[in-house]
Amino acid sequence: MLQKTLVLLKPCTVQRSLIGEIISIFERKGLRIAGLKMMQLDDAILAEHYAHLVDRPFFPGLKQSMMATPVVALAVEGVDAIEVVRQMAGPTNGRKALPGTIRGDYSMSGQQNIVHASDGPETAAVELKRFFKDEEIFEYSLPTLRSLYATDEV
Ligand code: UDP
Ligand code: MG
Repeated sequence: MLQKTLVLLKPCTVQRSLIGEIISIFERKGLRIAGLKMMQLDDAILAEHYAHLVDRPFFPGLKQSMMATPVVALAVEGVDAIEVVRQMAGPTNGRKALPGTIRGDYSMSGQQNIVHASDGPETAAVELKRFFKDEEIFEYSLPTLRSLYATDEV
């Protein structure tokens, strides 16, 4: 099923000048960039975005690290994009993530781990709404679509 998912390039990625390199990994895979913007996160949006972690001891440090610079938010589209992008990101801890995954290739940290990626269809819907207005998501189509997928796949 054609899906959209939210990716955030975290401040560690911005600070390490890896914005272009990480975006190009998603492009190279064949995913479509449906939305793209830079934004400075604040307490309110992070309390919402990481609501499942507010009681954890590392939450203040996580929040701090997510506000260190602006992030780059991406709406990424493809068939089964939510699972595909999670697989591309790899497990949370960069030291445990396998080479070939984004975190495995670019991160040594359980916190400074390059990307956020939505973890399921419900989360993706809520998170895309949290970071993008409707008019910031674009429905153009890639001319390479017929080379990216079999006709019965999309
Ligand atoms: N995090 C952390 N320490 C931990 C677990 C998570 O700093 O022990 C941070 C890390 O940046 C992670 C984010 O909190 O990406 C969200 O955690 P989650 O469990 O949702 O992992 P993710 O979905 O990003 O893999
Ligand atoms: Mg998560």
